[in-house]
Amino acid sequence: MENKKTKVIFLDRDGVINHDYGYVSKIDKFDFIDGVFEACRYFISLGYEIIIITNQSGIGRGYYSENDFSILTNWMIKEFNKNDIKILKVYHCPHTPSDNCACRKPNPLMINQAVEEFNINLDSSWLIGDNISDINTAINSKIKNYILIDSKKNNQKDYMIVDNLIDTINIIKN
Ligand SMILES: [Mg+2]
Ligand SMILES: [Zn+2]
Repeated sequence: MENKKTKVIFLDRDGVINHDYGYVSKIDKFDFIDGVFEACRYFISLGYEIIIITNQSGIGRGYYSENDFSILTNWMIKEFNKNDIKILKVYHCPHTPSDNCACRKPNPLMINQAVEEFNINLDSSWLIGDNISDINTAINSKIKNYILIDSKKNNQKDYMIVDNLIDTINIIKN
């Protein structure tokens, strides 16, 4: 039964999928990072599903609306689809840090919801993000495998660090 569980690559959005210009909320500011589609097709070829988990405090701060986020997300998913990539689901937290919600990363709620919804095996899943809070989300939700994207190579030597998503294909092999 165990091997029937879904294995997932959990991806942060800003800084992993698209260039993080800060509070990206419009299609014309959403620039896919080179190699993202190729990396995702590789993950799918290994049998992974792809789930995006993203903090979107710009909603709580009033910079853009849930509807703006939804329009951008639907467009993004279609761009993935055009590149033969299915995104299983996008989870987002709309709150600000001062809201002290349960969903904002590094809290594990978005991961926990995904696990319930899709019968995910966390032991065979990965989380990839560009912020320490992403790494802490993995730790807090008991995802054993995680990779930090950090092209500046700051000194978080406890983590596997790569420059960008496409470089993770050298790490994730099955
Ligand atoms: Mg990020
Ligand atoms: Zn939240």
